[in-house]
Amino acid sequence: MLSPPGVANLLPRLIWTRQMAVNRLLVESAAKSPAVRVDGAGESSKPSRDPNLNPLVAKVRQLMSSGPNDGWEKCWEEGVTPWDLGQTTPIISHLIQTGKLPEGRILVPGCGTGYDVVAMASSTRFVVGLDVSTTAINKAKELSSSLPNARYFTFLEEDFFTWTPPELFDVIFDYTFFCAIHPSMRSAWASKVSELLKPNGELITLMYLFDDQEVGPPYNTSVADYLEVLNRVGFKAISIVDNDLAVKQRKGAEKLGRWKKILIQSSL
Ligand code: SAH
Repeated sequence: MLSPPGVANLLPRLIWTRQMAVNRLLVESAAKSPAVRVDGAGESSKPSRDPNLNPLVAKVRQLMSSGPNDGWEKCWEEGVTPWDLGQTTPIISHLIQTGKLPEGRILVPGCGTGYDVVAMASSTRFVVGLDVSTTAINKAKELSSSLPNARYFTFLEEDFFTWTPPELFDVIFDYTFFCAIHPSMRSAWASKVSELLKPNGELITLMYLFDDQEVGPPYNTSVADYLEVLNRVGFKAISIVDNDLAVKQRKGAEKLGRWKKILIQSSL
């Protein structure tokens, strides 16, 4: 059995390289909206590194060549999971401790080993961790099934894009899922997020931003990429701020975005 601190000792490897890449123009235009707060947009002096020089990232890409869903399964089967922090994402612990994580039903798509799912689950938050990989889901269940809060979360092996839940969600938390899916799926991702959230629900994106990838996964990702697809389905950013609590290897490369759908009032 693993308690959250115990989990921190597992798989403490993080290899995906990063360089923050923010489309300053779009972020600034988002910041002009009175509802949006954007901190530190585009500020980074981090050196760019080529992830193809990293054997694990190269291996991920090789395994992914068999097609997206099979590819993910192969990565998990072979233990090629350089994205796995092996611990709860620190900003999630912070949001919980400071009372800034909403309550209700929470969905974590592409949850992997599910550390964040487990951390968020409580008597006031029921969390669903979703992953297309059988091995990832089995691993998440294995690590968490005997935790004291086990009744407040569940792990489901499902494809995010085709899954239809029995009930909608108050919150969707996306971390390293948006950058993992092919960019051609980003519009579908936004539509699905919109479909799965309750009308007043909130999307929380921990955006891992970089622009030095020729191919993926992970694929080049900017704040502008999120704005483009989310604005189209009616989401507006409430805030986009630097993630000062990013793990060392991702420092300066992450922003926390909080998004809500703007409900159009009927004049009738
Ligand atoms: N968020 C996790 C895992 C990131 S890697 C973490 O930070 O550790 C991306 C994850 O998305 C993989 O576990 C992969 O199996 C999963 N995934 C990819 N496509 C998916 C899909 N269509 N539906 C659900 N999960 C998917």
